[in-house]
Amino acid sequence: MPVKVAEEWLGSCSGCEISILNLGETLLAVLPQLEFVHIPVLMDHKYYGQTGSGDTHHPEIPQATVGIVSGNIRNAEHLELARKMRESCQVLIALGTCATHGGIPALINQFSDAELFQRYYRETETTDPAADPDDPALPRMLERTFALDEKVKVDLYLPGCPPHPDQIAEAIVALLEGRAPNLPEKSVCDTCPTRREGKGSVKKIRRFLQNAQFEPGQPLDQMRCLLEQGLLCMGPVTRAGCAGSHGEDPRCVSARVPCRGCFGPVKQGGNQMLDMLNALASNGIDVKSVPDRLSLLRFSGGHGRLQNPTRRAKAGC
Ligand code: SF4
Ligand code: SF4
Ligand code: SF4
Repeated sequence: MPVKVAEEWLGSCSGCEISILNLGETLLAVLPQLEFVHIPVLMDHKYYGQTGSGDTHHPEIPQATVGIVSGNIRNAEHLELARKMRESCQVLIALGTCATHGGIPALINQFSDAELFQRYYRETETTDPAADPDDPALPRMLERTFALDEKVKVDLYLPGCPPHPDQIAEAIVALLEGRAPNLPEKSVCDTCPTRREGKGSVKKIRRFLQNAQFEPGQPLDQMRCLLEQGLLCMGPVTRAGCAGSHGEDPRCVSARVPCRGCFGPVKQGGNQMLDMLNALASNGIDVKSVPDRLSLLRFSGGHGRLQNPTRRAKAGC
């Protein structure tokens, strides 16, 4: 009998769902063993019953063995859907860094809602000024952006912005086979072939927009490590995975661009900003040369890592 799967997206850009499609032939091979009982990316029926004919204004998510949730939690609708998914699914998977660590949308946690609305509705260069939205039908905003496991229990984390299809495939196949998935637990540096010459040659971080030094056509293992070139490469503090399971290289580094940290910290509870500052300091690099230290949390600002100054003051930090 096929395994029942429910998929839901919260504060999401749909890139994670596209990564599922990027499974390609693997997806075709496993599809006969899966029965998608709920998947709004294909049919948005969540508030109107599975047939689209109801008008309950509450999500109806059928019971499923596996639940997959992408995106983070920013408003009351996201929260209701996350709780309903947890109730309906035996195993809940957080798909993508928005779900596992808050992701890019959690950058907003540095600002209050008032600042957000002022910027978005009155100051953006491409928008005519307008009042804040006050339609009671709109979902209530929560006080900040949350990663999924801040609100409901998560059984399996598949980080990445977006996650690599190889890890999604491994998770699905492992669940079908009744075993624990074999997922990367190392850092991006552990999967990176660049040439390392040792610590201490660089004292300051260069601006991100400066190009890496390499010869066109040169194999990646002959290019010097980008961090040793003084570029802020977050490979040491970012979970491996973007290189896939078939001997590829880390995606950004293979394009001669520093890792920006999109798979989140190496360990689920890690702090990429503190870990990176420690890594820089232990390499003799002046941490004050990092232009915007909070940007080191650009993918992992959930779990209270990024907070606006008012909230930080109230919390005494
Ligand atoms: S993790 Fe990245 S790809 Fe996935 S929903 Fe968030 S922003 Fe989009
Ligand atoms: S710091 Fe960047 S370039 Fe250097 S080994 Fe790590 S991932 Fe590769
Ligand atoms: S190199 Fe870093 S930022 Fe680029 S895809 Fe891999 S984990 Fe993400």
